[in-house]
Amino acid sequence: MRWSFWLEINLSALRSNLKRLKSLVKPEVGFLPVIKSEAYGHGLLPVARTLASEGIYGFGLSDLDEALRLREAGLALPIILLSGFEAPWLPEIARLKIIPAVVDLHQLNLLASFSRKTNKTFSLHLKLDTGMGRLGLSPEELEKAIEILQENPQLRLEGLMSHLACAEEPEKEITRAQKKTFAECIKKLKILGIKPRFFHLANSAALILDKSTHYNLVRPGLALYGAYPCEPQATPIKLQPVMTAKAQVLSVKKLKAGQGTGYGPIFTAPQEMRVAFVPVGYADGYLRSLSNRGFAWIKEKRVPLVGAVSMRVIAFDVTGLNVSPGDEMILLGGPQKEVPAEELASRAGTIPYELFCLLGRGSFRIYL
Ligand code: PLP
Repeated sequence: MRWSFWLEINLSALRSNLKRLKSLVKPEVGFLPVIKSEAYGHGLLPVARTLASEGIYGFGLSDLDEALRLREAGLALPIILLSGFEAPWLPEIARLKIIPAVVDLHQLNLLASFSRKTNKTFSLHLKLDTGMGRLGLSPEELEKAIEILQENPQLRLEGLMSHLACAEEPEKEITRAQKKTFAECIKKLKILGIKPRFFHLANSAALILDKSTHYNLVRPGLALYGAYPCEPQATPIKLQPVMTAKAQVLSVKKLKAGQGTGYGPIFTAPQEMRVAFVPVGYADGYLRSLSNRGFAWIKEKRVPLVGAVSMRVIAFDVTGLNVSPGDEMILLGGPQKEVPAEELASRAGTIPYELFCLLGRGSFRIYL
């Protein structure tokens, strides 16, 4: 057990982000928080329990095993598998009353024949590919899907959904086209006299930037965890980071001018300096691309990462600061967002989603 690196997960910040996001939508719009991949690394069950106590419609997931864990923990809210399903999951989907989003005609036929064979009813959402070019039925396949549903009354169409490729740019051509296609598909259903309970399109960015995407259910992920999916200036609410990664300094040493540190060495001290070593590295999900580019927060100061990120060691320039072994450092997040996930991710050439998932994988978490 390592005591020197941990994540603090601020569940009050999660609650407050949910409340603020709710303030942006009409009260009748349901919330389907996306908590797949261990709630973006924040810990599936504590996040799910916290959100459930705040009034949400249900949970958005990708994997059956996470759905199972929610049910085993006694969480009975609706669960929608947003990315389709694998054939062997069907008995458990039926037993646990999970709602699959069906992503193509092959899946719809599988579900139909399984339900006929087992005499079980299923609720489902149809996922449309309105232009992202990823999972989902094409708009032209919608009529065929409706035909299959009409031949199989044991399948109940509960929702029609799609996902935006570029929600952070509501005025971009692809976003306009996707919204138009989605609206046309809804019209098509209406003409056929089919009225699913839910229509949904909005992830965090769409929820924040574009009311026309809200319909009657929204699916925020990233914003709940306190990272901005678009420019903070464009966001009418303040979001609080939920994940803070902390570590204790293991060792401090002086480098002489001209002396390198770590592998390569890809960093050489321009003048005499003090370096603090922290026992964290890419094995903990701290990206190697942050070599010579990362930063942290210690003694009320931002300090730059120097040298290569190695498997279990990183180094920070703490020249002029009174830093000793055992001192605490913020590697991500912080109560005042001292190490913003958006900025650290951009320096690593990635997005906050990846930072959260990687740091959250297997790290020790403390819930506040
Ligand atoms: N909806 C779907 C279908 C998704 O796949 C995701 C996340 O990947 C989300 C919503 C949540 O997106 P975000 O985290 O950007 O809010």
